[in-house]
Amino acid sequence: MLDLNVCKSRHCKNLGVANAPEYQYNVRPLGFLSMRCDACSATPPMLDNQSYRLIWQHWQQQLALVMGSGCPDCGSQAVKRFGHSSNGKARFRCKTCGKTYSVRNSVMKGQQQLVSLIDKQIAKPIELCRNQQQEGEQQQGEGENVDLIQLAAQYGVHFDRACEQLKRRAWQTLWSQPAADNMASVVFTLGYKGRDNNLWGILTTDMQSDKILHLSTTLLPLALPTLGRYQSCVDAPPLVIESTDSAIELAHKQEQRFLHRQQFDRCDFGQGKLSKSSQSHALPVLTAHAHFALLKALHHGEQGGAHVLAHEVFLRGACITQYAQQVKNQQMALVYVVGATAGETQASVRLLTTRKLGWWQNIWQEYGNESGATKAYSVLCGKTEMRADEISLISATKALRFIEQQSQRLNLDQMTASRLESLLLALAANYNQAL
Ligand SMILES: [Zn+2]
Ligand SMILES: [Zn+2]
Repeated sequence: MLDLNVCKSRHCKNLGVANAPEYQYNVRPLGFLSMRCDACSATPPMLDNQSYRLIWQHWQQQLALVMGSGCPDCGSQAVKRFGHSSNGKARFRCKTCGKTYSVRNSVMKGQQQLVSLIDKQIAKPIELCRNQQQEGEQQQGEGENVDLIQLAAQYGVHFDRACEQLKRRAWQTLWSQPAADNMASVVFTLGYKGRDNNLWGILTTDMQSDKILHLSTTLLPLALPTLGRYQSCVDAPPLVIESTDSAIELAHKQEQRFLHRQQFDRCDFGQGKLSKSSQSHALPVLTAHAHFALLKALHHGEQGGAHVLAHEVFLRGACITQYAQQVKNQQMALVYVVGATAGETQASVRLLTTRKLGWWQNIWQEYGNESGATKAYSVLCGKTEMRADEISLISATKALRFIEQQSQRLNLDQMTASRLESLLLALAANYNQAL
């Protein structure tokens, strides 16, 4: 799917169809640039395909280089083995474009020592958890107290290279997970070096195994065209949360916020300054499209299933576009979830209320358990006979909480954006290995 300007309505025959005759492009029914599908009257915002193609090309390249799946230049799957490179790595040749490449999967020799020093710092809490009974005995190993900030200052450019390799190794760990049917996706912002700088990102887990399948952020090693680039914007005022708010009240407030945005799919996450002109932050909506496209390329959700989403308005559009085929065939359910009722079984939660919310008047249901915890969800499309206890973001929020806590422990907010991104991925890979 390289044309994002398609209809995103679940019942429309044009869902996911590029260049349908009923489309009008560049109209402004709500003040911002939109397209219109005359078959269903929907008017989703226009998206910059040129930027998206560059973003997708980047991911396709990483996928090929890290996993050996397809040609990094043209994406063709028709590749064959082509001997070995001078340093012994397997080489491949693309039958479509003729280019040769080798898979980069191991940590390079020169970086091994530094990579293992960083590893040691990152893996510490997991070791501590495992050795809790011997607490206190292992505190003074050799060279235990180097922290990542010191290492970064000491090794400079070498630290950056080590981070790059940690990132590739982490991608390999995350992307090697078996195909999942049921996924949960949450969004986050995490600060990096400098004032008001944040990465915006998405994390997806397999609801069965709890493992992280992919984590992507707005940061890209590319100079994106202005149209696809994130810029700080006027967002709706932040949510005012009362301690008495139930999950459905929070969902309602969030829907009101979306209406106050200048454009539905534009959220603000700070300045996001970058020091290199060869880097940019993509718009979160484009990041989300590429994120779901990558999950699909890894065969997750290919057989259908359920995809549970955090309550962010443009995640629905991105997910339904990338999985249009599965949605049309009634194989995949997309669900928004707010709140959680922990340790739930079908017997322990009961329906409290049903309401229509927001611009699209989606039907939301709220469930509660005996301890007073509430969860609200809205099945946006697909099979509607799902049980309340099957619909949960818990696997994703648990993984995200781990990553947030560890980034805080390691002071990752003092790192540059690209170091932060690599180390987040390394933490994600660690999380999977510790499960
Ligand atoms: Zn339509
Ligand atoms: Zn090729």
